Amino acid sequence: MITLKEALTLTSDDIKKLKDDLTSKIKQNKIGAYVEQLISTELSQSGTGIPIAIKDNINVKNWEITCSSNILKGYISPYNATVINNLEKAGLSAFGRTNMDEFAMGSTSESSCYGRTLNPLDNEKVPGGSSGGSAAAVAAGIAIAALGTDTGGSIRQPAAYCGVVGMKPTYGRVSRYGITAYSSSLDQCGPITQNVEDAAILYDIISGYDPLDSTSANISYEAVTPNLNSDRKLTIAVIDNFVSQASPAVQKAFQKSVDALEKAGHKIIHKNMLDTKKIVSTYYIVATAEASANLARFDGVRYGNRKGDSNLKDMYIQTKSQGFGPEVQKRIMLGSFVLSSGYYDAYYIKAQKVRHLIKDEYSAIFTEADLILSPVTPTTAPKFGSFKTSLEMYLSDIYTISVNLAGLPAISLPVDKDEDGMPVGLQFIANAYEEQTLFDGALSLEKAINYIK
Ligand code: GLN
Repeated sequence: MITLKEALTLTSDDIKKLKDDLTSKIKQNKIGAYVEQLISTELSQSGTGIPIAIKDNINVKNWEITCSSNILKGYISPYNATVINNLEKAGLSAFGRTNMDEFAMGSTSESSCYGRTLNPLDNEKVPGGSSGGSAAAVAAGIAIAALGTDTGGSIRQPAAYCGVVGMKPTYGRVSRYGITAYSSSLDQCGPITQNVEDAAILYDIISGYDPLDSTSANISYEAVTPNLNSDRKLTIAVIDNFVSQASPAVQKAFQKSVDALEKAGHKIIHKNMLDTKKIVSTYYIVATAEASANLARFDGVRYGNRKGDSNLKDMYIQTKSQGFGPEVQKRIMLGSFVLSSGYYDAYYIKAQKVRHLIKDEYSAIFTEADLILSPVTPTTAPKFGSFKTSLEMYLSDIYTISVNLAGLPAISLPVDKDEDGMPVGLQFIANAYEEQTLFDGALSLEKAINYIK
């Protein structure tokens, strides 16, 4: 598949041909990366620009948008998310709705109401989640690039499982206007691409202040792509107590990357951080609390397909129990519980304090380091059904979620393969608004390691 950088030089006739070619490839492909593949309908398309695949929780005017949930099936978006308007301004356009975990809650893309997406590198393995469709589409060569969302790793983790690049911007860099909220203080939209330079290009296109999002950062924006510099010599921290919890294949890939970075002239320093179990507890309290508030609007009155009409209570019960899948229901209940009076101080307030602690720990590391290098996941892509409980799945998020709790930017890129040939991804994490350093470091690692697909 041609890269985004190459696609930017195409004429409108070439783009039309490219779209036809892409459409026929998508129709033949069996991994279910696109919702349309799973329900045998025509590919959603909008505009005449370079095609970019769009996760099913980002509003594209006149498209059905469902967050891969039964409760929203048939809902037609009346407006574009700001990121979609930004794509269009740059000569790109929305092309195909990608499959995801219901309401972006999950790490495997198995909880979609349309059915699962397969990992294109091994169909018995998960593509990751929640932006599994976006990552699988790029990895399978049926998308030039895609947009995903990352609340606790949902861009970086599927990118790592599928062997592509995924980037989560600093909180506030990219407008959340028109992106269905899961956890408003954690969500960010970002690119999933074939290489680091394409990620920088797409990041530049979607970023910037947006008055329509009250949490958008009103600061000047300097594009990173024109200033990309892989020759900068950086100080890179590794978190020893994080790395030691990863599988042998991930640890091996990590060491290989550290060696390559040192050889390229970067300085490595060693640090430790808060126990990852505490990070998981904090994330799942904050994320579910916010989710329970955000998903209250899907009640059959304001939004959502209404079910049951014998009385108001029955209508709420039927609408939510038929519309939401089990994982979403579980999280709404957990979130309502931690926010309820009597438990609010014990859980929610305590989690907010630990969140602060995590942010302070990152800030302390960034007084000495330009970047942090970390695994993205403890293992490579697991087989379908490997997680027997929700908790087992939550524990696979140990390396990604603290980045969202601290609002930092991070990028995941493939660096190695395990004994079965499945990709291992690592991530760089930077201080807030230091995306230039993030991309410079990632480009340097990409060159130093020379990952072969
Ligand atoms: N796996 C995490 C969760 O289930 C992250 C999801 C995401 O980033 N959207 O909440």
